[in-house]
Amino acid sequence: MIRPIHWPLLPGLALLSAAGQAREEPPAAVVRQSFDVTVPQAPTPVKILGKAELTYEIHLTNFSDSPLTVKRIRILDRANKTLAEFAGETLDRRLAGVSGPGGSVAPGSRSVLFVETDLQPGGVPRAFRPIIDYKVAGDDRIFRTEAPWQEINAASPVILGPPLAGGPWAAVHDPSWQRGHRRVFYTIDGRARLPGRYAIDFVKLDQQGRTTTGDADRTGDAFGYGDDVLAVADGEIVGMRDDVAESALISRNPAHPLGEGAGNYVALRLGNGQVAFYEHLRPGNVRVRLGERVRQGQVIGRLGFTGDTTGPHLHFHLADANSLLGAEGVPFVFDRFVLLGRIDDMAQFGKVPWHAPKDLTPERLREWPGFNIVLAFGTVESLKPRQTRR
Ligand SMILES: [Zn+2]
Repeated sequence: MIRPIHWPLLPGLALLSAAGQAREEPPAAVVRQSFDVTVPQAPTPVKILGKAELTYEIHLTNFSDSPLTVKRIRILDRANKTLAEFAGETLDRRLAGVSGPGGSVAPGSRSVLFVETDLQPGGVPRAFRPIIDYKVAGDDRIFRTEAPWQEINAASPVILGPPLAGGPWAAVHDPSWQRGHRRVFYTIDGRARLPGRYAIDFVKLDQQGRTTTGDADRTGDAFGYGDDVLAVADGEIVGMRDDVAESALISRNPAHPLGEGAGNYVALRLGNGQVAFYEHLRPGNVRVRLGERVRQGQVIGRLGFTGDTTGPHLHFHLADANSLLGAEGVPFVFDRFVLLGRIDDMAQFGKVPWHAPKDLTPERLREWPGFNIVLAFGTVESLKPRQTRR
């Protein structure tokens, strides 16, 4: 399940055609019903561990009366250079139906391709075009749809200060998780949206990679429980809740209705109109009121264990509107953080130390934390006393 930080985009498929080589057989020249292809959210390039990456979803809706099976999806730039290509296993694991597997799309159904692609240095394209090869039930031929051009958002992601102090913090998120933040759509007001597209769950560790000092079932024993949660920027508090009860035992956390999954939360509207969401906060400890203006670095609450969560942590995401579930997740970068390592196998999370990075400098500037990395907020210098404390 767990993938390396950057998925290989073209594993085993020597179909790169920058110079026009590797032409495949032409698809049958027959007028067929095809997919309706949309990219509801134009992607914004975001820097992750030194590389610019695009994160987006391609929605494929079958308006025909026959099942359509996706065989291959290629993403081209204006120069017809292949930015990414998905077929076979790489297609299977990135394509999901609205409810179930996504490769064969029944009449009236929709599948979504979840894409994260590295971009070449200095080569951020202005637009991209999905080319869909597919089969129609009962026909052996492969048909092709050249979908409309899709725009790429040239704006830079907003630069934020830290939501927490020090570390080590595991930045838990992985786009390959079928029910992870990246893939769960909510349709609460007439439109399917992905609020957690760039969400990160911050879990505090000790130097051995453990998440708790003592009894793993005791909420209060978790590292980071009660830690200060900080305003990532100057802004206005536009949402909050502080009265969701907290279970003293992790195993006793009840299920919550859809609107209460976030538990206690704070919504902070930034100067650019985007809204930062902090979730699962400790009850009775939210330090701000609706309408209050806060300064970057100000303590706004404490890390807790409320709402739908399997352990104390801070859920953090940025959205394009003031709604927990009815807003699109948008990218952000942190001004700076220190990369300590990466958790290679999340099945061992909390049990084994992280792996230190080999080729990456620890000091990361203006990046979105990569998948399942371990980081500390602050500078390398500022962290030295903390790291020798134990
Ligand atoms: Zn979360």
